[in-house]
This record gives sequence, structure tokens and C-alpha cells, in this order.
Amino acid sequence: MVPEVDRTDPTSPLNDDGIDPAARAAGHQPSLTGCPWHDVNEMLQAAGLRPTRQRMALGWLLFGKGARHLTAEMLYEEATLAKVPVSLATVYNTLNQLTDAGLLRQVSVDGTKTYFDTNVTAHHHFYLENNHELVDIPDPHLVLSKMPDVPEGYEIARVDMVVRLRKKR
Ligand SMILES: [Zn+2]
Repeated sequence: MVPEVDRTDPTSPLNDDGIDPAARAAGHQPSLTGCPWHDVNEMLQAAGLRPTRQRMALGWLLFGKGARHLTAEMLYEEATLAKVPVSLATVYNTLNQLTDAGLLRQVSVDGTKTYFDTNVTAHHHFYLENNHELVDIPDPHLVLSKMPDVPEGYEIARVDMVVRLRKKR
């Protein structure tokens, strides 16, 4: 069973005041005020990043709609549609800065595709192969029944599981 995927219209996020309060309440930043613009500003400042117009706009697109999984290309496309003047290189840099600051988590699929996840808590993913979509697995307590032996001197930092799904033929 695959959870419903958020398909919010990405065309006018800068004018969008219809942020779903339930989605925000389910977010992972309890100290935030609920005003995305204010929150993004706070997040950037707290992470030591100057809230430039571009970072603010990208942060708005990323964090203003609840949990999301975006590649740099997807965010770049959204920014372009929202008339945010930004280059793909800037999108990459910003995503990496936000990841280094702990505000995003990277999830790699196929070793080539990197998704940036606004949900930085421990969770696993379904990858829908047919439409290249990453979806949270709702059970955060999912564990492998048998973990491999870890080499001497090491401990498991995190287990990232991507369960690949394809449509039944
Ligand atoms: Zn996720």
C-alpha cells in the first residue's frame, strides 16, 4: 500500500497562503510560528545562513508545503515556474548548504538521483520506479529483522532503506 502523495500545484507558491494547517502541525519544527516566510527566515538564521532573496524563495518552496522529496532539478523547475530568478547551480549550492545545516536530508536512489527530504527524522522510503517518486514509509519503527555484523571499531550510524516499488503487470 502506498500513501497518498502530495501533489500541490507548484505554479504559484509565492502567492499561496493556503498552507494546510494540518500539514504544518504535522511538521517537525514545533517552535515555528506557522508563517512560512517568517519560519524560513528563522531557519536560515539559526543555521548561520544569510537569508538572501534566493535562499528565502527556495526555502519557501521547500518548506512551505509540509514534507517533500525534491531533486535539485525539481526545485529548479518549481523556482522557474514561480519566477524566482535562480540558476541550477545556486539551487544545488543552497540544497547542500541546507543539508549541511541539518535542515534537509539527502536520500540517494540508483547512485545517480539524489532527493532532498524536508523530513530529517529517521524514516524509510518507498521509491516508485514508474514515476521516479520517493514516498515516506509511514512506520518509523520499521526494523530489519537481522542486522549484519558490523566491523570491529564501527557502529551503525543510520539505516536508510529504500523499498523499490513497481506497478504490477
Ligand atoms: Zn522522506
